[in-house]
Amino acid sequence: MASDNGDFRKTGIGTKLVHSGEIEDESFKAAVTPIYRATTYASDEELYSLIKRHGKTEDPHVEMTDEELKAFRYKIFYARGANPNVVAVQRKMPTLEGCDDAVAASSGMGAISSTLLSLIKGKKYIVSTPHVYGVTYSFIFNEMREMFGMKVIPTDVFLSKKWVNKADGQEIAAIYIETLSNPFLVIPPLDEIMRVRDELCPGTPIVVDNTFLTPVNFMPFTLLDPTRDLVLHSATKYLAGHSDVIGGIVCGPLGRINQVWEKMAAYGCCLDAETAYYLERGLKTLHVRMERHNQNMLEVYQYLVSVSEKFRLKIFHPLRGQYPIPDFAKSLVEQGKLGGMITFNIDGKDEEHGIQLMKVLHRTRVVKHATSLGGVESLISMPYNMSQPTWNQQEALGLKRFRCLLRLSIGIEDVKDIIGVLDQALSEICK
Ligand code: PLP
Repeated sequence: MASDNGDFRKTGIGTKLVHSGEIEDESFKAAVTPIYRATTYASDEELYSLIKRHGKTEDPHVEMTDEELKAFRYKIFYARGANPNVVAVQRKMPTLEGCDDAVAASSGMGAISSTLLSLIKGKKYIVSTPHVYGVTYSFIFNEMREMFGMKVIPTDVFLSKKWVNKADGQEIAAIYIETLSNPFLVIPPLDEIMRVRDELCPGTPIVVDNTFLTPVNFMPFTLLDPTRDLVLHSATKYLAGHSDVIGGIVCGPLGRINQVWEKMAAYGCCLDAETAYYLERGLKTLHVRMERHNQNMLEVYQYLVSVSEKFRLKIFHPLRGQYPIPDFAKSLVEQGKLGGMITFNIDGKDEEHGIQLMKVLHRTRVVKHATSLGGVESLISMPYNMSQPTWNQQEALGLKRFRCLLRLSIGIEDVKDIIGVLDQALSEICK
């Protein structure tokens, strides 16, 4: 395979984003990673030996070391395991998140499910919270329970240590949270969670979904333990950034990443070469885009606050102070390094008014009425009927109290235009 492209671990994040990981094309010296559509690659004796050893990992006398497994993962021979474009992304992400390695998946959910499946063997519990993306919620609270008999310990119960009589810390598979939650934008007390984990169940990994913040705003491994914990993303969102990629990525220590890869490959949720190419391309501008998302968000936030009485808006955002800001996140909030999301409810209005407002916005073509987030274009959707449709999550989040809850993903357009169309639509719906 084409050679490694050097060590970017000590460069600035912009240089890492542009250059790290890319595959050098030895035949034509292309300036960017070419797209490798091939599904299969020439075999050799080294591959046969790795395949044989890997095939025997169920045999108690055969144990592959983490380095051997890594050699197997990166030995490109069949694209379900990896291909050069996937390798480029898997080499770029650890330089950004500050960890050993990464594994790419075909979607954020592929990353999440492979990660959790890799951790549950012999375990009974997962610590988590309803403050997560709806499909993640269903996977943890419904699927994991029904299919694997796992029980969920709520994060606040874990933090209060009340569960300790019932459950042995050894039996907790993972602690799963989002660094900035979907849709209420809650920042969980990661530092406190780490302290309780270290006290009660030091072997349990903390898995964080860093999709809404990205490593440009916050690198969870500056706080978490890069030898134990995992950071993952729906790469569909900010990382790729143009609403034309579905992908996921998990970052962390080599041993755990190897295990996630085994699930990803076994369940077949690998990232396609062309998609990996677009993801790598999108990553090259992440720092520039995030700066603009952060900036536009602050201005839209100020606008929404300024009209909150007039239009009866209840805004959910770390800047609004509804939820306590943990110490580790205070500087992020002060600097406004919070990405492009704002959630708000229009008090006194219901789902129908919300849909009407989104349609008015869509007609302007500046803010589109569509789900997803983190792209260059502004999008608006309702958690109620889109990202959080599951009844028991809605109950747990108290979503019923907010009949007209809207989730705004602020893009990188000229902010005056975004504010202009929001003002027009709010004036029309709230008259
Ligand atoms: N994590 C978060 C925070 C999300 O918002 C989403 C999707 O919206 C996902 C994970 C799932 O990602 P994907 O849609 O790429 O499977």
